[in-house]
Amino acid sequence: MTVQPGRAAGDPALASADVAVIGAGIIGLACAQKLQQAGRSVALLDPAGMANRTSAGNAAAFAFSDILPLAGRGLIFKVPGWLLDPLGPLSIRPAYLPRLLPWFWRFLRAGQAGRIAGAIAAQAALMRLSEGEMAALVEACGLAAMVRHDGSLELYESEAELTASEEGWRHRRAAGIGFEHVRGARLAELQPGLAPRFVAGTFVPSWQTVSEPQHFACAIGEHVLAQGGTLRMAEVVGIAPAEHGVTLRLRDGQILQARQAVLAAGAWSKHLAAQLGDRIPLDTERGYNTTLPADAFPLRRQLIFGAHGFVITPLATGIRVGGAVELAGLDHPPNFARARAMLAKAKRFLPDLATDGGREWMGHRPSLPDSLPVIGASRASPHIVHAFGHGHLGLTQSAATGRLVADLLCARRSAFDLSPFSPQRF
Ligand SMILES: Cc1cc2nc3c(=O)[nH]c(=O)nc-3n(C[C@H](O)[C@H](O)[C@H](O)COP(=O)(O)OP(=O)(O)OC[C@H]3O[C@@H](n4cnc5c(N)ncnc54)[C@H](O)[C@@H]3O)c2cc1C
Repeated sequence: MTVQPGRAAGDPALASADVAVIGAGIIGLACAQKLQQAGRSVALLDPAGMANRTSAGNAAAFAFSDILPLAGRGLIFKVPGWLLDPLGPLSIRPAYLPRLLPWFWRFLRAGQAGRIAGAIAAQAALMRLSEGEMAALVEACGLAAMVRHDGSLELYESEAELTASEEGWRHRRAAGIGFEHVRGARLAELQPGLAPRFVAGTFVPSWQTVSEPQHFACAIGEHVLAQGGTLRMAEVVGIAPAEHGVTLRLRDGQILQARQAVLAAGAWSKHLAAQLGDRIPLDTERGYNTTLPADAFPLRRQLIFGAHGFVITPLATGIRVGGAVELAGLDHPPNFARARAMLAKAKRFLPDLATDGGREWMGHRPSLPDSLPVIGASRASPHIVHAFGHGHLGLTQSAATGRLVADLLCARRSAFDLSPFSPQRF
């Protein structure tokens, strides 16, 4: 990357990088690592520094078995009931509804019977790549000690709830994903201390979690910097193809040149993508959590309360209770009553949970209506690649996204057909 003559950047390191990565969340960091491994030099640009936004506070799961699109989980039928509960798993800010309608319309269409099979096949292919590429990234960056291999346990309050989930489990079995339905002593062994309302569960042994998602992302970033990458605290406000690559304009007016660029600005990517001719229906599903002290409960593995839209995760730094979806855009202030509502439910589900001393957080999932991310070249230039919109699965799919982006920018053959992820699919 070079600085345009006469507009000193004051950072000589920028002059030596050939790929500018816009956004240093988990997606940008994983892209930087995979590009570096492919022999490219990288410069990260982010006004918030490394992994300080959505990637800082997520639920820490490598959810490799999560291959069903959100719209296809019978969700549509649950939505009216959820909306009636002001602190339930889903809320929509009324003033935001008019802006949300086009996204919601596409979400409904994504749930149509004829579209589900294709979406599951695409997500399953990305997840298969994710598992292998994440293992390779963990090894390359020396992060094995940060990964827990203890699976997840999804919980049901009735046999009818388990039966209703069977179709989803059939799709997973067909995709080669192992799981075990459990009851009685086996359920209590997988997690002692559950309230008796939980009559059954599903154990997924291949599910992994990281010890702390922000630490994990920053460790990837530190590895990238140690290998010669750079990070600059800067906001990109303009992007355009140029004769020999890409021109970037920063908030402070500086102009930078790079040979290639990756747009990985998460939920904030939409306007930059539009400058490249790509009108992408990106929105945000805001999520909340509370991280309790580590001794709040003897948690054996991540617990998933699907009907209530939240999970509880054991982290090195505490017990994290959170999830939920709030459709309220990027700028509206957080409503932490949502985090408190999940904590109150968690106390009912794990009666011995100590709920004092928690830290609350809200993050912006970058969400596309068909639950698939955008991974592909921009309309304006093959040298500018989009990598955003991972919704609930950005940590899980980060390494695979990095690999696919590196393949595109290094003109290597892709691991599979990328058309379901195309930025031009909408
Ligand atoms: C409550 C919750 C729980 C979750 N749990 C999980 C989970 O268990 N497993 C999982 O896989 N996923 C989970 N997710 C989803 C996951 O956190 C996201 O998909 C992921 O963090 C998105 O990463 P990202 O890098 O695209 O976005 P971000 O982490 O938001 O990073 C985008 C970066 O771009 C920067 N940026 C924005 N605009 C500009 C600009 N103009 N110029 C330069 N930089 C810019 C921002 O400052 C930010 O740092 C969860 C999300 C939430 C909210």
